[in-house]
Amino acid sequence: MQEITRILHALPIDPLTGSISTPVYQTATFVQDAPGEHKGFDYARSGNPTRQVLENLIARLEHGRRGLAFASGLAAIDCVLKLLEAGDEIVAVDDIYGGSFRLFTHVYEKFGVKVHYVDTTDAHNILDALSSRTRLVWLETPTNPTLKISDIEEISRFAHAAGALVVVDNTFASPALQRPLELGADIVIHSATKYLAGHSDVIAGLLAVKDEELGARLKFIQNASGGILGPWDSWLTIRGIETLPLRVEAHSRNALAVARALAEHDAVAEVFYPGLPTHKNHAIATRQQRGLGGGVVSFTLKADTEQAARAFATSTQLFKLAESLGGVKSLLCHPATMTHKSIPREKRLAAGVRDSLVRLSCGIEGAADLVDDVRLGLEAVSKVESHVFALS
Ligand SMILES: *Cc1c(COP(=O)(O)O)cnc(C)c1O
Repeated sequence: MQEITRILHALPIDPLTGSISTPVYQTATFVQDAPGEHKGFDYARSGNPTRQVLENLIARLEHGRRGLAFASGLAAIDCVLKLLEAGDEIVAVDDIYGGSFRLFTHVYEKFGVKVHYVDTTDAHNILDALSSRTRLVWLETPTNPTLKISDIEEISRFAHAAGALVVVDNTFASPALQRPLELGADIVIHSATKYLAGHSDVIAGLLAVKDEELGARLKFIQNASGGILGPWDSWLTIRGIETLPLRVEAHSRNALAVARALAEHDAVAEVFYPGLPTHKNHAIATRQQRGLGGGVVSFTLKADTEQAARAFATSTQLFKLAESLGGVKSLLCHPATMTHKSIPREKRLAAGVRDSLVRLSCGIEGAADLVDDVRLGLEAVSKVESHVFALS
């Protein structure tokens, strides 16, 4: 069965009314027949029927056994970190999402959790960092904003040999392109805020695991800590997921067209896109992501200044300047002054996030319109350049 058919028909018809749309159970508690005798739900932090539909759906999408839904991607990440004890270590991808870095560094380090950052684009690099205290190997692939690709299958082999679990933040690829659990990973994380919900209208996080016992431990932490997703936001996320494969195909098609147009343009220095054959790990991405590059493209300008990037970011009409990604409408972001502002400049440059780097989240608009819009932005860059030249 094709993925889109599987998703649409994985959603249950409401057994009480036949409603084809999942009902929103806006309730805090459930009336019991006698003490302890109920219909499977006792209190809505522990379980809510609308949230449960979403939790079962993400488990199916990722080919796992258990799914869990949280108030944000970071709440899902926080739940995974609570598996750890003082003295435990994490080996993490060096180009990690800034919010994960902040949580590791400013919250969990003080509880005695140590994190080693490694360039995971070569799987062998993790071997030196693994120790008997390593509990988790933490990957993102593709990464944000330089779209680095790591080999989940090979890294999972190395991690498991060292007794560590593999966590993959699958936000950028989404299960429409990549299913880490099938490649050996143990836990998949999503900021469902991005491609899964897909319309830039909800903040949500999801986990999926294939091991029942691990799933039960995470479920225990979810209930104990309480960072659950509410029923309305669960419904919105379900509604988004119904069209995920269609959207991700359109996002990827558009991003490839935009990446090619960027690569051909004189003002552009470097294009970061896993779907281009020039990408360092294009072969791994093609194998791991079902031949598609996803919807995010980043690039740097030959005039490698913040001013040049600003000229681009304030000249496009369709790409709107905003944080976030993965929505139906195109967005752009200047990491150096937005998402990566809190990272010291030297460290940021070392990670490849140059002053002129721009990240594009290609929406599902027409590809030709997005290419025209990018050219409009690049024209503005050329004007800044000639202006600077005239002054000097
Ligand atoms: C946005 C994002 C997160 C955090 O998710 P929120 O829903 O904003 O809490 C985590 N990981 C990645 C890769 C993201 O892009």
